[in-house]
Order: sequence, then structure tokens, then C-alpha cells
Amino acid sequence: MNYLKSKLDDFGASFFENLGYWANPVILNFKKEEKHLLVFYFHGLFDSINEKKLNHVDPQNNMTVGQFIDFIDYFLNHNYKFVGVEDLIHGFGNNERCAMITFDDGYFNNLRAIEILSKYKIPGVFFISTKNTIENKAFWWDIVYKYRFKQGVTTENIASEQSWLKQFKHSFIDQYILETFGIGAFTPWSDLDRPFNKDEIQQLATNRYVSFGNHTHNHSILTNYTKEEIKEELNLCNRMLFELTGTFPNAIAFPNGNFNQTVLEATEEEGFRYAFTTEPGRNVFPIANNKLLALNRYMTNTTKINRFGGACRIGNRPDTLYHDLKMHVKRIIK
Ligand SMILES: [Zn+2]
Repeated sequence: MNYLKSKLDDFGASFFENLGYWANPVILNFKKEEKHLLVFYFHGLFDSINEKKLNHVDPQNNMTVGQFIDFIDYFLNHNYKFVGVEDLIHGFGNNERCAMITFDDGYFNNLRAIEILSKYKIPGVFFISTKNTIENKAFWWDIVYKYRFKQGVTTENIASEQSWLKQFKHSFIDQYILETFGIGAFTPWSDLDRPFNKDEIQQLATNRYVSFGNHTHNHSILTNYTKEEIKEELNLCNRMLFELTGTFPNAIAFPNGNFNQTVLEATEEEGFRYAFTTEPGRNVFPIANNKLLALNRYMTNTTKINRFGGACRIGNRPDTLYHDLKMHVKRIIK
């Protein structure tokens, strides 16, 4: 019975995903995206599917270089202009449809994206967690993933261990990693799971298509902290990035997307202009403003990226759309 139910669920999700891709051009015809900015976020890039099979990183949010190129081509072919953070200050033309590429965490493998961006002459924003950079420290969610995967733990159970850890401050998470996997766990396994180092950030700061933003010092999920602690996390990261790049970041991406009123206040008080969330949705022009501006961002879908779906673009991912619809149906039946 459960098997049948899960098969039906799979079918439902994939039906809605396909419907999204089919509906996308139709929806776009009615809901024109002129005067809109779409921001997308990425994490790591694999050079191929084979590299994914190494299981050195949690593959959940990563895609291949080929998929990344398909993504760029899709938006260029649909007459979007790729913009960077500096363009937000100047504003956009009335008839422009704009897209922005952002990368979270600061993986060394993002160099692959930078090569592509430089070739296409497209800007990208890279949000860095500086403690990982300074200490060449692997990201904790990858550590949990790769050790547990090796132990034969199911991806479902790995995901629930990761999400359990997200309710804690970085000091607890570090202690947990240390006690569970040993001190060596913080050492990256390869170039795939390692963060950028200081020299690399310093060098990339001279690339005109690269700008850096704050992702907190310890990749701290800010809703777990007091206001003072939040400011400390933002400050440490900003100071380090300023030291390396000579520019004070005016943009932040909240780790794991978590924020609340206190987080927004602390961010504004620390002088940030732009806060990138993970709330799916488009941003409407004009967006130049003196106050802190919270921008919606879409998660990039790794499947069929070249037909990036309508369901995603009206504020849902295919799976969440299906989930929401099921909830509605349940409510009606009650
Ligand atoms: Zn992150």
C-alpha cells in the first residue's frame, strides 16, 4: 500500500513538473517579465555526473557545469540581461528583464562558474563564509553527508540529521562534528569539497565579473542567535572580506535562508543595502532604495534546467506546488 502511495506521489510530482515546463512559455506571455529582476542561487558545480558519484559533497543543491551553461543560455535566448549587485544602485531600463546569478558558501569549485561567467561577460555574486576560507574547513553539511554515506546511511536519514543540526549555533554543530566524526573530519577530501582560500579570494577580487558578499563568518543560521551575536557574525565576515578584497560588502545572503525581524534590523544597522533571501519570487523595479532591501531568490532546479519551469517562476518549485495542491485537496475533503 505504501509502495503504491509513494509511486502515486512520484507520478504526481513529475506530472506537475512537466506541466510547469509546458505552461512556462504560456504564463510568460501573460505575465511579462519586463521590469522584473529574477535572482537565482547556486552552490557547487560538478564537472560531470561522474564527479557527483565521488560523494565528496552533499549533491542535493549542486549541478553540473553543462547544466549551468544551459541555464545561462536559456535566459540569454529569452532576452534577459544578467546584472550584478552594482547595477541595483543604478536601476534598470523600463523594458529590461533582468536576471542575477548568485553562489552561496564559497566553494573552490565555483571557479568553474567564474570561468564561464568571464567568457560570457556576465557578473556573478559570491557569498562567502569566511571562517571556512581562513581555516580551509570543510562545510559541516558535507561532512555529515560524506561520512554517513560511507556508513551506508540512507539519504533520507542523512537529511534528517542535517536538518536537526540546523536548529543549533555553530559552536554546537562544530562540537557535534568533532565528537561524531573526529578532528580530521574538518579537512576537505578534495578540491571538490574545499572552500576558496584567502589567496584565491584576493586574486578573484580583481576579476570584473566577480563580486563578493557576506554569508556570515561561521555560516551561522542567524535566527538561532541574539542580536549582538548576529552583528558579530556579520562583522567578522565583513572585516575579513574587506581585508582580502579592499571592498566592504553591501550585500548578504542569509545562511540557509533563515531570517526574522531581529536579523533584518541587525543587518540594516550594520550598513548592508541588500539582503538576499531564499523566498522564491520575482523582484519588481524600481528597486533602488535607501533602506535595506530584501530580495527574493529562486533555487535553481537541477533537472531540465534549459526548460526552467513556469511553476518555479510563479513562486513555486514543482514539488512544493504539488505538495500545496495536495494540502488544499485534503482541506476540501475534510
Ligand atoms: Zn550557505
